[in-house]
Amino acid sequence: MAPTHVLRCCQRGLSWIPVIFIALVVCWSYYAYVVELCIFTIGYSSIGEQIVYLIFFHVSFVMFVWSYWKTIFTKPANPSKEFCLAKVEKERYEKEERPEAQQEVLWRAAAGLPLYTRTGSGAIRYCDRCQVIKPDRCHHCSACDMCVLKMDHHCPWVNNCVGFSNYKYFILFLAYSLVYCLFIAATVLQYFIKFWTNNLPETHAKFHVLFLFFVAAMFCISILSLFSYHLWLVGRNRSTIEAFRAPVFRTGSDKNGFSLGFRKNVAQVFGDQKKYWPLPLFTSQGDGLIFPTRLVSPDPEQGGPQPPEPSQRPSQSVAGVPASPLSEVEDHLLNSPPHGNHTAAPNALTSVGTDSVTISLESQS
Ligand SMILES: [Zn+2]
Ligand SMILES: [Zn+2]
Repeated sequence: MAPTHVLRCCQRGLSWIPVIFIALVVCWSYYAYVVELCIFTIGYSSIGEQIVYLIFFHVSFVMFVWSYWKTIFTKPANPSKEFCLAKVEKERYEKEERPEAQQEVLWRAAAGLPLYTRTGSGAIRYCDRCQVIKPDRCHHCSACDMCVLKMDHHCPWVNNCVGFSNYKYFILFLAYSLVYCLFIAATVLQYFIKFWTNNLPETHAKFHVLFLFFVAAMFCISILSLFSYHLWLVGRNRSTIEAFRAPVFRTGSDKNGFSLGFRKNVAQVFGDQKKYWPLPLFTSQGDGLIFPTRLVSPDPEQGGPQPPEPSQRPSQSVAGVPASPLSEVEDHLLNSPPHGNHTAAPNALTSVGTDSVTISLESQS
């Protein structure tokens, strides 16, 4: 086996360590809560309390594990073959050495594709690594070594890219992990105090109950900040990457370019039917390749697109291209059914607010 293959295998194995760590903590928390707290500590002294605790605990546990599982094992969605260069175009692109000539090839190949965003200099966004024209909101993840549709960030705690295919699962994972930790902390508190003040006998349950409270409280605090941040992003229709660097449209950079108003923004991630919002099932709108923008479908609530600051405008001539109505191809893509593979499985874990964004940013030149 070549050394690079061995290295890659080792990297792949090591990348599962954070997920295994979280899985072990979750398994221990299950044992500590059900066996040590509910059975040994509460025991038969309060059977009603024991049953209520166990029911609520198991509901939150199942929803938490389900959404975590889906976030981890849902394959990131990639650009469709329409965004790949044809063989002839690829050869021409590789043969050309001048960036202007290469852009010429890309502009021709991109004609008819539903692209509203550009690089900072107004060029077509192209991934040399995947050899694909990047759809709007798509970015290359260096950790996954692929272009990911509506990439949000690469999360080591789920060992997966969080993007179009699993963003809803990721949000639910944060929500249910918060509920799980809050429920544990709230119900363990009275026994934590009793053990701490020696009002309960010294048993092996003491260690588990004390530790359970500390761990649940610690995770609560860290997850709450991350969850609040992502709710804010959903409301504004921004990905983490776009929050750091506003997408550049034909008319210039616009951090609210994809925002269609709070309700529509939420529906884009969670879907139209509220009954499916709490479930980790794929209900996000669209196919991840094309997203309505305020340039195309201005929302009266938003007051239409704001003109960009002169300093934000791309320097090339494309900056002057006015927003046009949808072409037939774009219209077709906007109305096309969701991608089949987006209903697959998931990934997920977020951590203590330390998720890293590992992407290759497009050239700004
Ligand atoms: Zn790529
Ligand atoms: Zn990734």
